[in-house]
Amino acid sequence: MPALVLEKTKVLSRREFEVAETLGPHDVRVAIHTVGICGSDVHYYQHGAIGPFVVRAPMVLGHEAAGTVVEVGGAVATLRAGDRVCMEPGVPDPDGRATRLGLYNLDPGVRFWATPPVHGCLRPSVVHPAAFTFKLPDNVSFAEGAMVEPLAVGMHAANKARLRPGDVAVVLGAGPIGLVTALSALAGGCSRVFITDVQPPKLALAATLGPITPVDVRTENIGEIVRRATGGWGADVVFDAAGYPGALAAALDALCPGGCIVLIGMPGAAVPFDVVAAQVKEARLETIFRYAHVFPRALALMGSRKIDVRPLITDRYGFADAVAAFDYASNPRPTSVKVQIELA
Ligand SMILES: [Zn+2]
Repeated sequence: MPALVLEKTKVLSRREFEVAETLGPHDVRVAIHTVGICGSDVHYYQHGAIGPFVVRAPMVLGHEAAGTVVEVGGAVATLRAGDRVCMEPGVPDPDGRATRLGLYNLDPGVRFWATPPVHGCLRPSVVHPAAFTFKLPDNVSFAEGAMVEPLAVGMHAANKARLRPGDVAVVLGAGPIGLVTALSALAGGCSRVFITDVQPPKLALAATLGPITPVDVRTENIGEIVRRATGGWGADVVFDAAGYPGALAAALDALCPGGCIVLIGMPGAAVPFDVVAAQVKEARLETIFRYAHVFPRALALMGSRKIDVRPLITDRYGFADAVAAFDYASNPRPTSVKVQIELA
């Protein structure tokens, strides 16, 4: 079948490529409709590796997908042909210790689409476990369904923060993950969100998505702005969706006493951390790796329109132009948030 194949660093082709997959009794076969391009896909394209994961053989890219079930295994009772679905791209070992503890995203044996050596979903069809395949509400489009995967990161971060109604949150970074984190924070009960970035179009878009105050950190100080707005107290939660070296210091400065910092962005190298600055606020530090148990909740929030990701889908390409889509996503205009490829 035709697929978008990363041959090696900086070399992509859309060509015939067979992925051997047989439909097991607990699997479904899904005709792919829409796939979003993630920062990790672009990173593999440009650099050939993320941390310990190195592309050593041609690999199909893509892990943010929605489509239609075309065939179900004999033991599948929850889905049937014709169902519109999205898929959770990481499939853990069901017998793994982390999986049995409910921490399946941390299972060392997890197989995650487009993380070498596992092939991704930029191809006409995939076989996937029914347990990691979720029905879209009728009012949720395929394009929105393909946004559930990045949204799941923000949802997981909001869970880790243990938000309470009325919390004030800061999100550092207004890229795709920062924006879905802001939406998740509001859906989780935050009264308002301050979001930072250095690109005015991203901040302008963020301001249209709810009670979100944009902060351009080229000219403004997030800590000062949050203190001014909270009677000098600070933010209950700071989500770092940027991962730049100074983010931790900015997060500690903006945080209220007893507040929580959730680290989402991945710095390229070890970063310094002012332990005492964290201690004097008894800051609670949380980290996330991908997500677990949030796809059904993300879809429920989309279905009720408590979360609307449609403004984040800024660019669409056909499958024939998939390489051009990746070239664009590698160097997008600042007005772009999510680039998607339509296969159907
Ligand atoms: Zn992604």
